[in-house]
Amino acid sequence: MNKQQMLNSALRILEERRNAAEEKAEITLERLRANKQWYALETQLRAAQVDLAMGGKDELKDRIAELEKERDELLGKLHLSPNDLVPQYSCKKCNDRGYVDGRQCDCLKRELQRLIIADSDLMNEDYTFGNSAETDRHNVAVYNRAQKLCREGKPNMLISGNVGSGKTYLLTACANLCAALGRSVRFVTAFTLNGDMMTAHLQGNEAREAILNEYIDVEVLLIDDLGSERIYKDVTAPYLFAIINERLVRKKQTFISTNLTLTEIRERYDERIFSRLVDRSSIFVAQLIGEDKRLNIK
Ligand SMILES: [Zn+2]
Repeated sequence: MNKQQMLNSALRILEERRNAAEEKAEITLERLRANKQWYALETQLRAAQVDLAMGGKDELKDRIAELEKERDELLGKLHLSPNDLVPQYSCKKCNDRGYVDGRQCDCLKRELQRLIIADSDLMNEDYTFGNSAETDRHNVAVYNRAQKLCREGKPNMLISGNVGSGKTYLLTACANLCAALGRSVRFVTAFTLNGDMMTAHLQGNEAREAILNEYIDVEVLLIDDLGSERIYKDVTAPYLFAIINERLVRKKQTFISTNLTLTEIRERYDERIFSRLVDRSSIFVAQLIGEDKRLNIK
């Protein structure tokens, strides 16, 4: 899903909520109108209110209060409350419309975030910076820097680390934070990306473009575990380059995790990818230190 589709879906969810709330109140009111006692009370109440509005005497106020009390008592007998007669919207701020003063309401942002996460691969909502149990001083510094990158929207990040160093956790925390900041996010494993690129490669131009664009258009792309995928000749490296390069040109943020060293990246892919990945002006390269403290950036 692209950003517009996601917004449409989120708004549709809110609209359903709003309609359900309005329908529920409407059904209750309809049932009440069929109740003779209720109907009589309502008619008198409305007449008294109109009279008062037309400049009637003050004692009408007492009459209205009395009728209202009677009406509420009748409601109680029918196991209803005055709240049942007006739509009970889930969000009191925007009445489930999604916007307050032309700005996205928090409920809409929450819905968008949920959709973004649901649309992504293997993304664990609990992996957040706030929930991190990381205590290693070096790693904590990397986490802090990563948070800053998410908030500033640049530069890109290449995070290396061996199994158990928590690079998937960090990448997911970045994805969750970016989603919470309202940016469109796509979180994939290199394995999934590679599979999609193979599919794209086998399609006609139009379908191929569509698949590639899903990776290029998204505001934040996160590729987990680069190097774990198979190398398909004429597919893996060229498409990876196309995506990374196009995103660089469009100034879209990309986060990559890998257990490869930079030397291994150069050997495995090609010089062009390597040069994009080590250009320090556009990428922050850091290493997470795992349990065995193996230093793997050479
Ligand atoms: Zn709202």
